[in-house]
Amino acid sequence: MSSLLDFDRKHLWHPYTSMTAPLPVYEVVAARGVRLQLADGRELIDGMSSWWAAIHGYNHPVLNQAATEQLGKMSHVMFGGLTHEPAVSLGRRLVEMSPAGLERVFFCDSGSVSVEVAIKMGLQYWQAKGKEGKNRLLTIRGGYHGDTFGAMAVCDPVGGMHQLFRGVLPQHLFAPLVDCSFSEPWDPQALHGFAELIQANHQQLAAVILEPIVQGAGGMRFYHPEFLAGVRRLCDDLQVLLIADEIATGFGRTGKLFACEHAGVTPDIMCVGKALTGGYLSLAATLATAEIAETISTVSSSNPGLFMHGPTFMANPLACAIANASLQLLLDSPWKQQIQAIEAIMDEELASLREQVGVSDVRVLGGIGVVEMKEAVNVAKIQQQFIEQGVWIRPFGRLVYIMPPYIISADDLHHLTRAMATVLRNT
Ligand SMILES: *Cc1c(COP(=O)(O)O)cnc(C)c1O
Repeated sequence: MSSLLDFDRKHLWHPYTSMTAPLPVYEVVAARGVRLQLADGRELIDGMSSWWAAIHGYNHPVLNQAATEQLGKMSHVMFGGLTHEPAVSLGRRLVEMSPAGLERVFFCDSGSVSVEVAIKMGLQYWQAKGKEGKNRLLTIRGGYHGDTFGAMAVCDPVGGMHQLFRGVLPQHLFAPLVDCSFSEPWDPQALHGFAELIQANHQQLAAVILEPIVQGAGGMRFYHPEFLAGVRRLCDDLQVLLIADEIATGFGRTGKLFACEHAGVTPDIMCVGKALTGGYLSLAATLATAEIAETISTVSSSNPGLFMHGPTFMANPLACAIANASLQLLLDSPWKQQIQAIEAIMDEELASLREQVGVSDVRVLGGIGVVEMKEAVNVAKIQQQFIEQGVWIRPFGRLVYIMPPYIISADDLHHLTRAMATVLRNT
C-alpha cells in the first residue's frame, strides 16, 4: 500500500465508514471532463457527478478561469458589514431563475446548513407572528436533508439516525412514503396519509419540508407531481409554510431547472446547494419569499427583528464567483436537450435490467438512473468491479445509480450503462 493510502487508512475519516475497518478508497490525482484519473494511471468515466455536484464535468476551463480571476481579487472577505459583486450577481441570478416569488437570499456554506437556515426561518416566522405554538415540522418518510441536527431530525426515521440520537433530536411528524410514482397515473389516495397528518396537526406546524419529486439519499424515489401540488394546496389552506429542499434536484437534474416546476408550485422557502458551484466549492443558499423576510424582520416583544444566523464564510466571494460562472454556463448550454438525451439512453439501456435476477426496480428520471436491488449490495466488491469496467459508480444499500455530468457523450454513457449491466449480472 502506498504511504498516502496508508496514512489515509490510519487517520482520515471518510463519509459513513468505519475508522478501523474502512471500505477501500482509491487515490484520484486529476479529473477532466467526465473522467477521473487514478494514481495507478487508470481512467474512470464518472457516473456520480461527485454526488450531484459536478454537472459540467471536472476541470472546466470557464470555471477555472472564474476561480483564477476571483483569486486575483480576493478569495474571501467577511459578509458582516461588507458586500461584493460576486454575491450580488449570484443573488440576482438566483432570484431570476428560481420559481417566482422567491426573492430573498441567504448564502451559507453547505446544504445541511441551508436546511438549518430554512428551518430556523420557518420557526422565526411564526415566532414573529406571535404563534410560538407553531414549532414542529412535517415531512415524508424516505427523505434526506443533511447530517446536522436540525436536518437529521427530518431525515427518514428508519434509514436516518433517529435511533442513535434519540432524546436529542426534536420530534417531528412523518407522513407515509408517497405511494404513487412519477410515471404512474395519479392516484389521489396517495395524498390521504399526508392530508390527515397536516389537518390534525397544523396548529403546531411551522412548516412542511420535503425534497420535491425526487427523494435522493433517502432512497432515490421519484414521486408524482400531483402529490407536491396537493401538499402546496394543503399548506396554503392550513397556514403551514412549505420548504422545498432542492439541494440535489436544483439546476436541471430532473429535466426542469427546479423540480418544483414539475408541479408548477413555488415553495415559501427553497434550499439549493450541491450543483450551485458546478462542484468546485461548498456553497449553498436558502431563498425565501419577501413576506417571510419581512415578517422575520418585524420587531416585537416575541421577535428581535433580525434573522439569527451568520456563518463565517457566508457568501464566500470565490465560491460565489464560480457559482456565477457555473450558472451562466448552465443557462448558455443546451442542458434540457442534454438531460433528455441522457434520460432516453438510460431508459432504453437500463430497461433490460428489470428482468435481471436480484433486481427489484429500475427507474429513470431526467439525468438520474436507478437500479434498485432486492438485497443490499457489497459496496467494496461492486465498486472494485465497476473500476475494472472503467467507471466510477458508488452504490449505497440496495441502490446502484448514476447521475452523470450533463456533458457526458452518448458513448461514455453507453459505457456506464454497459458496466452496470455487466456487473449486476454477476452479483
Ligand atoms: C446532499 C443533500 C443535503 C445536504 O447537503 P450537504 O452539502 O451534504 O450538507 C441536504 N438535502 C439534500 C436533498 C441533499 O441531497
